[in-house]
Amino acid sequence: MQQELPLQQPRPQPLVEATTTSPATNQAVAELVNVCKVYGTGDTEVRALNGLTLKVNRGDYLAVMGTSGSGKSTAMNIIGCLDRPSSGSYKLNGTAIEHLNDDELTDLRNKELGFVFQQFHLLPQLSAIDNVMLPMVYAGVPVEERRERAKAALERVGLGSRLENKPNQLSGGQQQRVAVARAIINNPALLVADEPTGALDSRTTKEVLDLFEALHQGGMTVVIVTHEDDVAARAQKVVQFRDGAIATEASSPSQGRP
Ligand code: ADP
Ligand code: MG
Repeated sequence: MQQELPLQQPRPQPLVEATTTSPATNQAVAELVNVCKVYGTGDTEVRALNGLTLKVNRGDYLAVMGTSGSGKSTAMNIIGCLDRPSSGSYKLNGTAIEHLNDDELTDLRNKELGFVFQQFHLLPQLSAIDNVMLPMVYAGVPVEERRERAKAALERVGLGSRLENKPNQLSGGQQQRVAVARAIINNPALLVADEPTGALDSRTTKEVLDLFEALHQGGMTVVIVTHEDDVAARAQKVVQFRDGAIATEASSPSQGRP
């Protein structure tokens, strides 16, 4: 019989360490209750969210669908602490954001949140590794550790040979994988992706979705906005937005089948 593995033995690495050691509980990572968001006033008033109640539990992989203008991005911006509700409450990983000032909200966002955008939003003058290192600068991680962690994250998303490439030297799918590595580098409680495959072809869409799936299997909680049924089908659960609230909620058809 083989000797027991020493504790230091590297084990197969999930893309992200699971954030809890206990089995998945119904603990809410994001909880919106009766959230309204109103832009403008009077004649120009737009009610982008109209009583949205949504709970994302630890370990969920949720897809958000709905027609253009139904409030998906507004909701993601609130979940992602880029914006605040006009009324209603939002709790991120147990913290009610209405009691936080703007600096505290930014700190909470850096600590708990990873955000992926349709257009990647990488800094064009920085290499892949420098882009991924950036959130750790704000988190106060020492420079050597930053480099090591960013390199490991890029290796895990399959870009170990592209560390020094600038965004314009990478394909769309590769840029989005750099953006995902950046989003998860501080091991956030929640990964939010607003139409992350909207600018990608079907092959690179698959690369990015495989990555989300691996992250989810490693314990990450994921919310993805999409127009595409086949993208939503890879999530566990789908909600449909209509007029700034949830119209329907269902398990993803592909997950529900035996
Ligand atoms: P979706 O992402 O589902 O397409 P959005 O959340 O972007 O929808 O938009 C919801 C509604 O809010 C739309 O009518 C949009 O025009 C409006 N809206 C979004 N952002 C703003 C803003 N900053 N100022 C004014 N209206 C906005
Ligand atoms: Mg949108």
